[in-house]
Amino acid sequence: MNDIILLKLGEIVLKGLNRKSFEQKLLNNIRKRLDHVGEFRTYCIQSTIYVEGSDRADMDAAFEALRKVFGIIKMERASACEKDKNAIVDRAKEYLKEDLLKAKSFKVESKRSDKSFPMTSIELSQYVGGELAEAFPHLRVDVHDPELTVYVEVRDLAAYVHGPAVSGAGGMPVGSNGVAVTMLSGGIDSPVSTYMIARRGVRLIPVHYFSFPYTSELAKEKVLKLASLLTEYCGRMTVEIVPFTHIQEEIRSNCPEEYFTLIMRRFMMRIAERIARDNGAKAIVTGENLGQVASQTMEAMASTQAVTDLPVLQPLIGMDKQDIIEMAREIGTFETSILPYEDCCTVFTPKHPRTKPKVKDVEAAEKGLDIEGLVEEAVKGIERVTVNIGEEVV
Ligand code: ATP
Ligand code: MG
Repeated sequence: MNDIILLKLGEIVLKGLNRKSFEQKLLNNIRKRLDHVGEFRTYCIQSTIYVEGSDRADMDAAFEALRKVFGIIKMERASACEKDKNAIVDRAKEYLKEDLLKAKSFKVESKRSDKSFPMTSIELSQYVGGELAEAFPHLRVDVHDPELTVYVEVRDLAAYVHGPAVSGAGGMPVGSNGVAVTMLSGGIDSPVSTYMIARRGVRLIPVHYFSFPYTSELAKEKVLKLASLLTEYCGRMTVEIVPFTHIQEEIRSNCPEEYFTLIMRRFMMRIAERIARDNGAKAIVTGENLGQVASQTMEAMASTQAVTDLPVLQPLIGMDKQDIIEMAREIGTFETSILPYEDCCTVFTPKHPRTKPKVKDVEAAEKGLDIEGLVEEAVKGIERVTVNIGEEVV
């Protein structure tokens, strides 16, 4: 008899997206995730996904891993015991001891899918409730508003006592909402924006612009490390590392200094769009945040986005930096993001950047460049690195 994990499905919002395909996607993602943990059996009954471990399976590790899978709103563990009323009481006393000691009031709720069990659900609840009240005399039974609900379930193979539910990662299963390219720098923001869009069910292709030797090999490794941390939420990803040095040098030699950053960002967008089109991705995700830096004024963003027809998703646009940092800590990327390696944006930074550019002036400023040729050359030089859950990247 093995413990099980029960997972409640999150929102299914899009009208066209039917429950079956949502469930199937989520089950697939869960299976892929658990492949890295051990041997499990997973199935879905009435909007609950059940995860059963084999004898050697590490249920703690599975529970932790599943807390990062999008599409799950609530999750709980259940401990298995013999299908016998006293075995159930004993297991509840032992498994829920801390919760029973902490609570002031409780009730028992039973479910019985094995109809051959000799008590009705109500009888079983009353019996288990009575025994627990006796064993924990400080506890009051309150069937309307209990602090603790003890769930008992009698199923085919065993009876189960449930632990308290905890929140899942929420959102929608990765892949249920299409594919997008995400621009991943080594900073604090873009891992968070990547996480947020993945949480909406989007599979992501990270793109990193790399300016070797102005930025070091360590800067690239940092980005790969960030991507690999994100795989716990996003699943396996292939990072596209775009050589960006030549473009930056061409900008420096041929364009007015105050437009350097803006022109560079327009190249980033064009290349992201190319990668999106080559991979069936329908949007570009960035970590931009209104007013944070010179290139994040409304005018600057207009000039950047003017080069693409794809929607540019900026999930952090209205957040405070402090909130972004807190999220980065929560998802586990912050410590890596603050490692001190330079990003290509800090190379050739103008002393007085334009903060309210007009699109036509930026266009005029980049006129001397062979835009298509440079994009083509960068795309040809892309290095692809696949990162996966639990695998070392460097
Ligand atoms: P971050 O903390 O994500 O680096 P930022 O606050 O430093 O963001 P910018 O440097 O203006 O802001 O970059 C804005 C967005 O552009 C980033 O969030 C990221 O999505 C993208 N970006 C910036 N530099 C790169 C890069 N070298 N490779 C890929 N994307 C980048
Ligand atoms: Mg940055």
